[in-house]
Amino acid sequence: MYDHIRGQDNAIARLKTLRRLGRVAHAYLFTGPPGVGKDTTAKAFAGALLCEAGSETGAACGLCRQCRLFYGAAHPDLHLVAPEGASIGIDQIRHVNAAVSRKPYNRRHVVVINAADLCTDQAQNAFLKTLEEPPGAVVFILVSDRAEALLPTVLSRCCEVKFRRLKPEMVAEELVKRHDVPPAEAKAVAALAGGSIGRALELHSPETAALRKKVLALAASPALARVNDKTLFTSRAEVWQWLDFMSLWYRDLLLYRLTGDAGLVVNTDYLQEIQKAAYAAPQLLGAVEAVETGKKMLRANVHQRLVMEGLTARLASILTKAR
Ligand SMILES: [Zn+2]
Repeated sequence: MYDHIRGQDNAIARLKTLRRLGRVAHAYLFTGPPGVGKDTTAKAFAGALLCEAGSETGAACGLCRQCRLFYGAAHPDLHLVAPEGASIGIDQIRHVNAAVSRKPYNRRHVVVINAADLCTDQAQNAFLKTLEEPPGAVVFILVSDRAEALLPTVLSRCCEVKFRRLKPEMVAEELVKRHDVPPAEAKAVAALAGGSIGRALELHSPETAALRKKVLALAASPALARVNDKTLFTSRAEVWQWLDFMSLWYRDLLLYRLTGDAGLVVNTDYLQEIQKAAYAAPQLLGAVEAVETGKKMLRANVHQRLVMEGLTARLASILTKAR
């Protein structure tokens, strides 16, 4: 079950060792950015904890009776908690508390709480009592990408297992291999996804692909002023995406201008245009900076239209200057 998880070797090695040696604590907190494999790892760890043979390899064997129950999503000792609506409420935690106070069917109860930071304060307090005095054989696995939202008293009772951002190459590879994303697009969305496969998959939507095409077509053509077309950006989120794609575009142009190395180009499906572009390095540096300034303004809540109008005027002036 751990086999499909990429880029989290340290966390997985640690969990396997714990299981092999039987040194399992009462509560774990899996932290790290969203979309890097925390949920999948929590499930695999839960499987290993329930498996009869897990003490040999540290992973679930997939064959024993416990594993069959687990894979059939019918293991009576496994308790999964996820937000109902916007939060995890006190009733959900009370339900878990009651379940784990009963004798386990086999060896121990395993409770996985996804998005644990969405527990209400009441729910966390109800949970805290169980954490402080575990009723018996139970392991809690809390998963969160915003662990700072948990009560310090809860945090201090959990062993933290940290998950890392993935390298963009790894994200791109996963998208191509497992999600049938065309390689050039995979490389581009992976570069924007901040090391998260989940985020990359969000970015890989037909709408985003269309937007990227639009941005690159405009950025690649000298008729940049057309970006002023009011119909082009509807939402703030879309303007962010515009700016992200534009940074990536000018970064590609600049890197290629400086190094001549096509291997560094992210927008590989636009390699020809990038190789043909005749801008000088200072112009491209100016363009990269102009886009960054645009992002800063947007972050400072300047109206999106003002940001984009200012940016396109600035880019037009930088890029049409005599070189
Ligand atoms: Zn097993």
